[in-house]
Amino acid sequence: MDEPDQQTRNSDALEIANVQLRMANAQLHQSREELQLSEESLQLAVESAKIGIWHWDIVTGELVWSDRCREIFGVPKGETLRYERFLAALHPDDREPTNTAVKAALDGRGDFAVEYRSIWPDGSLHWIEALGRGFYNEKHEPVRMQGAVLDVSERKRADAELKKYAEELERSNADLARFASVAAHDLKEPLRVISSYCELLGARFAGQFDEKGERYLKHITSAAKRMRQLISDLLEFSRIGAGAKDLAPVELDDVLNEALDNLDTVIRKRRADIVGTEALPKVLGDRGQLVQLFQNLIGNAIKFCKTSPRVEVTARRAPNDPRRWEVRISDNGPGIEPEYQARIFEIFQRVDADRGIEGTGIGLAVCRRILECHGGEIRVESEVGEGSRFFFTLAGAPI
Ligand code: ADP
Repeated sequence: MDEPDQQTRNSDALEIANVQLRMANAQLHQSREELQLSEESLQLAVESAKIGIWHWDIVTGELVWSDRCREIFGVPKGETLRYERFLAALHPDDREPTNTAVKAALDGRGDFAVEYRSIWPDGSLHWIEALGRGFYNEKHEPVRMQGAVLDVSERKRADAELKKYAEELERSNADLARFASVAAHDLKEPLRVISSYCELLGARFAGQFDEKGERYLKHITSAAKRMRQLISDLLEFSRIGAGAKDLAPVELDDVLNEALDNLDTVIRKRRADIVGTEALPKVLGDRGQLVQLFQNLIGNAIKFCKTSPRVEVTARRAPNDPRRWEVRISDNGPGIEPEYQARIFEIFQRVDADRGIEGTGIGLAVCRRILECHGGEIRVESEVGEGSRFFFTLAGAPI
């Protein structure tokens, strides 16, 4: 090989190496820019989420806290920190569990995630959520730990408040249910006395009352009957609230049949036509309550219809959740005006035009309660003169 050739080859190799170096440099530059960008994004995320970052050098024992971290622990800037200082800032009851979690993470059992209370120098208490991860040298000895903290005092306060309200609500609901039940029970006895004396009066003085007297007695008797119905409906309503029972698989076809048996007299009397297209599904429910639900809805469909009642019962998978079923009970009744459609599910709410039809305004409130106990919902769609369609959802039974 002669000299010039060798030289050309060397210079080519040099040129190639140069190009490669330039490319590597450009790549490095781009990576550095990307790294800086992602560091900035991370910084932004950390700042906007108000997260404090800490870093603990296990070898020197020094603890480095970001400004936000110091704020979270109420520690002034400049004060040198060590792990012991951190532990001392915690509520006495939280020191041991926190230390145990940190030690367990360092022993190689993964990250730690704990909640503890920190006491600020002014004595105020702050709830903190903390996460940490250990880093190890080649000999698997822990050398540092790094993590993040978040002041969750506000959330804790809100949670506690919410819990308090929920407990108060539960208590007042239970009180109300108890009150309704006791009141209804206690009202039964005087009502029984009124009814029996009305009967006695009617029997003992038959023919001795004038027309007005007969009318008054009739009024008292029918008012007592209405009150008896009201009391028994109220009792039923208060009982449902008390018993959110364990739900079990129930065949809705059986539930429907039982409800229809219970409604047999009225179905015959009104010559009601009850139809369904196909078999109903198996759901998770309380059979007794579901029978009551079907009975109330079908009973209403028949009761409020002014012509020959035709009631259709169908079910399909809930459109927004295939694990649930949506049952539809539709009728050819008078329909419900839009302003009443939400209100009728509240207790004692009736459509004014229906005052002449027997009822207490409790049936649909019972339906809504039953569905609340089942984690389901009920709603109505209706146009006046076009009938009503009541929809409710229930969880499907596991196959
Ligand atoms: P009640 O039947 O004792 O009046 P509900 O709570 O069952 O009480 O019903 C509340 C009101 O809703 C009824 O008074 C009636 O005005 C209206 N309603 C319920 N179901 C129907 C229906 N299928 N068609 C028309 N109106 C209805």
